[in-house]
Amino acid sequence: MPELPEVETTRAGIEPHIKGKTLTDFFVRQKWLRWPVELPDTIKGQRVNEVERRGKYLLLEMDSGSLIIHLGMSGSLRLVRGSIAASQHDHLDLVFSDLRLRLNDPRRFGSVHFHSGVPETHWLLKKLGPEPLGEDFSEEYLFRRSRRKRLSVKSFLMDSSVVVGVGNIYATEALFAARVRPTVRAGNVSRKAYGNLVLETKRILEAAIELGGTTLRDYVGAGGKPGYFIQSLNAYGREGKPCRVCGGTLKKIILSQRSTVFCASCQVRSGWS
Ligand SMILES: [Zn+2]
Repeated sequence: MPELPEVETTRAGIEPHIKGKTLTDFFVRQKWLRWPVELPDTIKGQRVNEVERRGKYLLLEMDSGSLIIHLGMSGSLRLVRGSIAASQHDHLDLVFSDLRLRLNDPRRFGSVHFHSGVPETHWLLKKLGPEPLGEDFSEEYLFRRSRRKRLSVKSFLMDSSVVVGVGNIYATEALFAARVRPTVRAGNVSRKAYGNLVLETKRILEAAIELGGTTLRDYVGAGGKPGYFIQSLNAYGREGKPCRVCGGTLKKIILSQRSTVFCASCQVRSGWS
């Protein structure tokens, strides 16, 4: 599933090719993604002024509004020359003269909306919490937001109204690195532990973006999908394997319907570390 680093890498990859370019046409081959794709003809002839990201949404900002694109579970964007035929799961082309931005999404959980106001006022975006790499995502913020919260600290961290773009992989890894047990109630985690969690979340996401930036250099490809990178992971997907810190066996549990891996000796129950 594309997580925040993949979306940011995608944004950085397509920006130099479409920023400042005029959208000359579009083709919706499959209207039924997560929500129906209904784009007004009035966007034809408009220039893409900015290519931004908010959480896991890509924003193509034009004079009359923005295209808001989410890659869902299996979506990817690539730039192709106009002569390359679409394949089965290529649901949308945004045409910029001889170049096309093409959305491929086999599972169709992605979405594309046009919104005529500023992007932040769209219903998908208006309740989103701060960006994890921004200054607003801080020890003080998480500590304050979590007081009296009874849900687990992992579910708290994955709540997009608390912070955007921290999915299962990155929540699992950040909690491992910060040595906070995923099952601890959010309201019981100490200020200091939240400080560590903020630092580790930022560090891990930044490293993933950096890695993606090097693997997705050649964004205008003839075919195939951009290859998502795989970061070296310490906890996620390593259940039953030895902890790289203490050598103990990593455990897997299901927490809020998501698989969760942790080290019972490194990740303390109280969250006080
Ligand atoms: Zn350990």
